Amino acid sequence: MESENNPSRSIFKLRDDVMLKIAAGEVIDRPFSVVRELLDNSLDAGSSNITLWLEEGGKTRIRVLDNGCGMSKEDLEICFLPHTTSKIRENEDLYKIYTLGFRGEALSSVSACSRLEITSKLSNNSLPANKLIVQAGRIMELGPYKGNPGTSVDVYNLFFNMPARKKFLKSSSAETNMCKKIFTDLALSYPDVTFRLFLNDNLKVFFPPEDYIQRISSAYPNLLKKELLDILNIEHEDFKVTAVLGRPELSRRDRKLIQVFVNKRRIQEYSLIQAAEYSYTEYLPGGNFPVVFLFIEIKPELVDFNIHPAKKEVKFFNINILHRKIVTEIKSYLNQFNITIQKTYLPVTESFTNFFPDQKITKPDIKNTLKDTLINVSEEYSRPGFRESSKEPIEKNHIIKIHSDNTNPKYIGSLFDVFLICEYRDDLFIIDQHAAHEKIIYNLLKSKEKSLQEMLFPISFDVSNSETERLLEKKKDIEKLGIIINKTGINSFEITAIAVDYIPISESEIIKFLKDLNHPFAELEHRILSIAACRKAVKEGDIIDNQTAVELINAAFALENARCPHGRPIWHVISKEQIYKLLKRTL
Ligand code: ADP
Ligand code: MG
Repeated sequence: MESENNPSRSIFKLRDDVMLKIAAGEVIDRPFSVVRELLDNSLDAGSSNITLWLEEGGKTRIRVLDNGCGMSKEDLEICFLPHTTSKIRENEDLYKIYTLGFRGEALSSVSACSRLEITSKLSNNSLPANKLIVQAGRIMELGPYKGNPGTSVDVYNLFFNMPARKKFLKSSSAETNMCKKIFTDLALSYPDVTFRLFLNDNLKVFFPPEDYIQRISSAYPNLLKKELLDILNIEHEDFKVTAVLGRPELSRRDRKLIQVFVNKRRIQEYSLIQAAEYSYTEYLPGGNFPVVFLFIEIKPELVDFNIHPAKKEVKFFNINILHRKIVTEIKSYLNQFNITIQKTYLPVTESFTNFFPDQKITKPDIKNTLKDTLINVSEEYSRPGFRESSKEPIEKNHIIKIHSDNTNPKYIGSLFDVFLICEYRDDLFIIDQHAAHEKIIYNLLKSKEKSLQEMLFPISFDVSNSETERLLEKKKDIEKLGIIINKTGINSFEITAIAVDYIPISESEIIKFLKDLNHPFAELEHRILSIAACRKAVKEGDIIDNQTAVELINAAFALENARCPHGRPIWHVISKEQIYKLLKRTL
């Protein structure tokens, strides 16, 4: 006799209904998977108007009505059988899929674990509609019925015959939310299609046909202002991207509104989300994320959706080109938000030296100027011209009165030991000394060759298997960035030389950098140079003498984009008019 602990080893071929249930389990795991499959089918059928009804989060009823091409009676008879599809025929077709569906598994999976009712009428002829009822994979009814062109699909009592799965369903409101997410993702991909969503017979969402920007702002009415969104078309021979980009002021504290769609399908592709994020680094301070929607249309033969039954993942044949192109184009779009001083107003360089026309004011005793700091930035770390934060009283001439000729910035003084206050034209500038210096150094480091310094005592560090692989793969890139490493054990390395400019960076920061190399070269360069610039720059609390302050201000005003490498603005401007208004004085 067989006991439970000693099951028979004989092999049986599974019965069809058991196979079907197993297959259904892969495609359909909750109501939202049914919603996705039904909406996909309506969209593949070319519908321009789609309505979704949900009862109890889809647990008792999901209904999708469309005005698409419809199905004939013959199609209805087989549409719910496994592997029946009108979308592909041959092996080669798998490499050129233009539809959302292609596996021919959805209706069969749904029908295996629910009661499925489909009414459909072809839209290209006058034959009557037909209704099909299938329960647990068996036809209960098929015959003529009343109906308009298009298809309506009803799914009742999902998982009625799969108690284990039914038990794991969440509350109706949680299931509703998941369904809404799928609904919104598809509605964003097809802005020209009308969508309606009813929850327990109440109309909750209505999207009329609109453009991408309107659709996105209708989908997130509380989060987005339409006026702050722009559209950017990116063209390449292998792909086309319609990017909807939020202006920098529309930043968020999370990545919720960085969304990527490939051939109409929302995907979670870290490297493209990261491309969007990286493009904005110079415009958004740390911890802020941009609003970026990327609708990518790529030749079907260059992507493979056939790696995940629910098509959440996609394999790209060359993601690097896509990544680079997206970053370059978004960055050039963002150029318009650079903070600059109009070049024509800029004082000429000679004026730096004549900046203290009133000789009664003692020039601060500094040997090196900011200019030297910049020129010798690699040899000198002592930040000439700057003194470390000290308790010393601020110089007598902390507030200097210089008669302004209105073309040069007039330095007024330092505020809270971090802001330089300056009058320029009819504006008051509050300049962040650290951010300004950091950006100036960053630009300089970026433009010059790296000179290396051998380590007297190489820095050893251990990494994981995957980090080892990455380090070996990126060895050339990091050498170009000025860090020479040497493998000393299975998972250990040493740093034998580094660019002199990185000397102020702590060992642990360099090691942290080397453990996180899964980024394109430009981003790695940006990261390491930002750290180096930050460490070298004058800090909050460092007291700057007047002349150095003036030079720093002039250098900051000459920047192409007055934001620090981490995206914070370098200055804030208050106009004369605003100040007069504040004090109720007429101008
Ligand atoms: P797939 O979408 O992968 O082809 P499905 O099981 O989802 O497989 O659907 C099977 C077939 O039924 C589709 O290929 C299509 O021909 C037909 N079909 C399903 N839903 C609709 C619809 N709403 N309108 C028209 N035809 C449909
Ligand atoms: Mg389908």
